[in-house]
Formats: sequence, structure tokens, C-alpha cells
Amino acid sequence: MKELKSLRKLVTELSKLPGIGEKSAQRLAYFILKRGTSYTQPLLQAIQSVENEINECPKCFSYTELAAECEICSDIKRDGSIYCVVEEPFDIMKIESAQAFQGYYHVLHGTISPLEGIQPEHLKIQELIQRIEASVTPVKEVILALDSDIEGDTTALYLTKLLSQKKIRTTRLAYGVPFGSDIDYIDKRTLGKAIENRMEL
Ligand SMILES: [Zn+2]
Repeated sequence: MKELKSLRKLVTELSKLPGIGEKSAQRLAYFILKRGTSYTQPLLQAIQSVENEINECPKCFSYTELAAECEICSDIKRDGSIYCVVEEPFDIMKIESAQAFQGYYHVLHGTISPLEGIQPEHLKIQELIQRIEASVTPVKEVILALDSDIEGDTTALYLTKLLSQKKIRTTRLAYGVPFGSDIDYIDKRTLGKAIENRMEL
């Protein structure tokens, strides 16, 4: 059988998804094709509504379905003296589920990675500094909830230098797990402990 052009297009797009290689993309494409409109219509709608209904919070840069600030940024009961810096919006959900943090979040949208050409100016670092400077409640501590890998360490070092100039204490999660671990894979009890036992930088 000759390769079908439209199927090839779908395989190409699917293989751009994280963790999906050429083979898995092919399997998924055939699955979608076989299921037909009963599957493709809801799938297309779900993809479209994610694009149309989700906005970036102008304060923390997480995602929200609200038109302005997200639920966490607009919650005045939270502690404005402590911030938690994360790599991706998904990390917030994970930390919230551990119920061990009451401050505000800030999403960097990545980590410094010279190898991939990601420099501090490509991340929401300047926005973090501006936000801290503009805060009505003086910010005393910033928890760096970054992955324990080279990029996470480089970013933590960069932020610690920057924040110490402003006399702000920086801490990092005490994982108790080996180097290279991703916070996505830590269960919420361990994550809660990692926040409680956070280490000074
Ligand atoms: Zn927000």
C-alpha cells in the first residue's frame, strides 16, 4: 500500500508530541482513522476549546479560564510574603495537591539551557523580579521548585544570585531522591515533605 498523504500529515503532527515516537504516532493515527467521526469530532472540539478558552494569567503566567488573573493570584487570603517558582503550569497543580504551600506561584515556562539556546531572557524571570518589586507585602522567601537536573540547578543558581541582591531568601525543595528527578513523578506526600524541609540556598 502506498503511503496516504493525509495520514502522513497526521503522523507527523502526532510525533511532535512529547514521548511519542514515529511508531506510536503511526499507531495513534490508525486508531483515530478507524474510530471515525465519533472520536475525531470530540477530539477536535477538545483541542479547539483548550486553545480558545484558556488564557495565560498576566501575573503568574499559569493557565486560567478566567479573563484576567487566575484563581490563585486573585485569592487575597494567600501569603504574599512567599513565592514558589515552577517550570511549568502543571507543576502548580502538583504542589497544590500536596497542600503544603500557601503563597503565590510564578511560572518560568522552562529552565535555562545553554545547550538548547534557552537564556534567562527567554523565561519569565524579569517578570518575576518586577512582580516582587511591585508587591505590596514585602517578599521574604522564594521557593525554587525546579527539577533536580542540570538545567534546574543552573536556573536555581541564577535566580539565587539575582534574589540575594534584593535580600530575598531562596530555598529549594528537599527531595530526598536522586539527581535527575522530575517533580512530576513525586507523589504528593513526598512533595509535601520536600516543601516543609526545603533547604536554604
Ligand atoms: Zn496567576
